[in-house]
Amino acid sequence: MKKLESIRDISDSLLSQIKYTLKIKKYTPEMENHFSDRIEKCLSCPELRENKFPTLNRSVRFCDRCKCLFPSLIFAHRKKCPIGRWDTIPEKDTGSGSREA
Ligand code: SF4
Repeated sequence: MKKLESIRDISDSLLSQIKYTLKIKKYTPEMENHFSDRIEKCLSCPELRENKFPTLNRSVRFCDRCKCLFPSLIFAHRKKCPIGRWDTIPEKDTGSGSREA
């Protein structure tokens, strides 16, 4: 069941980021607030780790609890923080009856 939830969250996150980037769908102000809140909480969380790849001059941040990439994980509206710092985004805040962000 956990793997299915992870696949669902990855799918939610990717779709959400594509729609946001391509401006296919506009987030509600409530969604924007949830994303900002999640970003702030993850950035101040001791579970957020950074892997550096000096040869590529790149680094990747991820949650050491759920192993999700940051900030991708914050765009999955049905995901919740594994240690309870933030919760799923209520359906009413995602927009007019849509399940997508
Ligand atoms: S998802 Fe939760 S545990 Fe993971 S980095 Fe964010 S606040 Fe921390």
